[in-house]
Amino acid sequence: MDRRTFITKAGLAGAGAAAASTLAAPAIAQSSPKIAWRCTSSFPKALDTIFGAAETMAKYVNEASDGNFQIQVFAAAEIVPGLQAADATAAGTVEMCHTASYYYWGKDPSWALGTAVPFGLNARQINAWFYHGGGNDLMNEFYNSVGIHALPCGNTGAQMGGWYRKEINTVEDLKGLKMRIGGFAGKIMEKLGVVPQQIAGGDIYPALEKGTIDAAEWVGPYDDEKLGFYKVAKYYNYPGFWEGGPALHAMVNQAKWNELPKNYQALLTAACEAANCDMMASYDAKNPAALRRLVAGGAVLKPFSQEVLSAAFDTSAATYAEISGTNPMFKKIWDSQAEFRKDAYLWAQISEYTFDTFMMIQQRSGKLG
Ligand code: CA
Repeated sequence: MDRRTFITKAGLAGAGAAAASTLAAPAIAQSSPKIAWRCTSSFPKALDTIFGAAETMAKYVNEASDGNFQIQVFAAAEIVPGLQAADATAAGTVEMCHTASYYYWGKDPSWALGTAVPFGLNARQINAWFYHGGGNDLMNEFYNSVGIHALPCGNTGAQMGGWYRKEINTVEDLKGLKMRIGGFAGKIMEKLGVVPQQIAGGDIYPALEKGTIDAAEWVGPYDDEKLGFYKVAKYYNYPGFWEGGPALHAMVNQAKWNELPKNYQALLTAACEAANCDMMASYDAKNPAALRRLVAGGAVLKPFSQEVLSAAFDTSAATYAEISGTNPMFKKIWDSQAEFRKDAYLWAQISEYTFDTFMMIQQRSGKLG
């Protein structure tokens, strides 16, 4: 279409549009109905960065809809216990939740793949997989089977590998180690000799102090500092290879999602993407100072040895192959992640790795100011 034809047609359409806009007013009102949803979080308010991602999401939805689409966020246990958030959402007890998919791995290990599995994708890669590698569609194919539509909504980035009362150097050192480590990662650590313990956040410190447990993993410097682990277990190992980039999700009851007007679906989707980015940025801004304070307080930073990492890697790979043999959905999702991971690390070793390594050397030489 040439410019003149376009202008002529636009002019004609313009006259029509003016008349139509008056007639269309009720339809516009209908597309922004007043809705009030409850979002139950799996996290306590004390984990302000993680809990805050749900609040950020809700704030954008509330404000961008002029208050017509209200989402109220409740902390874990206010209306639903933290580990039942997805069940309550699927059942329609609440319209939505903010949770970590891997909490529900006991029902089906496929749930773990939505958050993180040992040696899975890092934060940047899992977002690439979700948004541009078919990940969201695959995860939702699984979540839809239980009546949930899920949107990625937050990431902690690579976590730390936990606090240890004694030094861990070899795989032998892991044998009989009573460690607070949750879920699917605990299953894999168990194969290396660890005795995994499920302990809620508030109970970890006394258990470490009394020696009831030998080690505990939580999140990273910013969250770990608040719980004071460095006072009772000074070895702070890294990286948390079971959580290289754990993703959180906003999970919505499938029927409630389907009922939403398209503009509200778009709004919620965009708000979750914004909160996803914001939570990662918040951790990246807060962790460095927290790490400095922990080290000043006596924490001893210790990288896991290659021996431990390699043994855990091989055990993880064998576990994925084993589960894939009996669980087609797990296999379908894991194969997609593994394929994505292979190419993501091909590219990363050329791009980020080279740049970051050079910059880290400058950091160590004090040249970054
Ligand atoms: Ca963790």
